[in-house]
Amino acid sequence: MSQETVYAIASGKGGVGKTTTTVNLGTALAEAGERVAIVDTDLGMANLAGFVSLSPDSTTLHDVLAGVASTDDATYQLADNIVAIPSGTNLDDYAETSPERLRDVVADLRSQFDYVFLDVGAGISHETVLPLGLADAVVLVSTPEPAAIHDTKKTIELTERSGGDVAGLVLTRTRPDSDISHDDLADRLEVSLLGAIPEDPAARESVYAGTPLVVYEPDGPASVAYRQLAAELTGVEGAAPDTSGETADDSSTTQTQAVATSSDTESTDSDDGREAAHDDVSSAITEAESDH
Ligand code: ADP
Ligand code: MG
Repeated sequence: MSQETVYAIASGKGGVGKTTTTVNLGTALAEAGERVAIVDTDLGMANLAGFVSLSPDSTTLHDVLAGVASTDDATYQLADNIVAIPSGTNLDDYAETSPERLRDVVADLRSQFDYVFLDVGAGISHETVLPLGLADAVVLVSTPEPAAIHDTKKTIELTERSGGDVAGLVLTRTRPDSDISHDDLADRLEVSLLGAIPEDPAARESVYAGTPLVVYEPDGPASVAYRQLAAELTGVEGAAPDTSGETADDSSTTQTQAVATSSDTESTDSDDGREAAHDDVSSAITEAESDH
């Protein structure tokens, strides 16, 4: 069981599944009875706005960081036990924000909620780096693609520079036919593998439905994996997927086992495709290291 309660969900590359991970980790824990706040610290992009009914003059994190509203004013109930603090979409308001005020917002939320998830923007701007140091631990999100892994190395460096700690790696959009061992990717980044979320068309559909994936398709492979991740990360056992249910998707169980054992088969593998993919990842990591 972990004493960490504030997590930054971060990646080097955009579009890898940070917001999906933030929303579904949060919702899985809320369904398990934990009080959760999710915060859109990607100030320029308003990732959580689709889950909250905002009018153009609704109070958002922009107003809080501009010093003209309280955290409570920008807090919206998403479902039982879970609230969101969205960013606004107005770039003029964004220009007024002072990211340093995020420190007070996080302290405020930490005292009110069991868990706080900060959805962090990609890249290396000040607003991106700040949450990495404010969180108790950083959850790295990456697809298994070499470019994304390359950028993850940078996020690890940024976390270290900002005085933060890495919780581990979540691989997203994984495919059963993938050439790359998930454990091996985590090993190469020298972080632990927290979970692997399979590619699942329901992820995108749930965004259009404005509903968290774990609610939209609770027994789908990605939902099951997100609940497993929630339990793994926090130790909240109530968040774990129900393995007794006959509706649980067998393929996801198989996939998870494949993740756990895939490194065993790795050393005996002589498939050129797989080795080529490994080389790509290796060189991506080496390149990231030599960038500094
Ligand atoms: P980020 O916040 O890192 O930019 P998002 O969470 O918005 O990334 O995800 C980017 C896109 O990938 C979205 O269209 C999302 O629906 C899709 N996506 C995320 N996770 C999965 C998944 N496991 N399977 C399929 N599509 C996914
Ligand atoms: Mg996002």
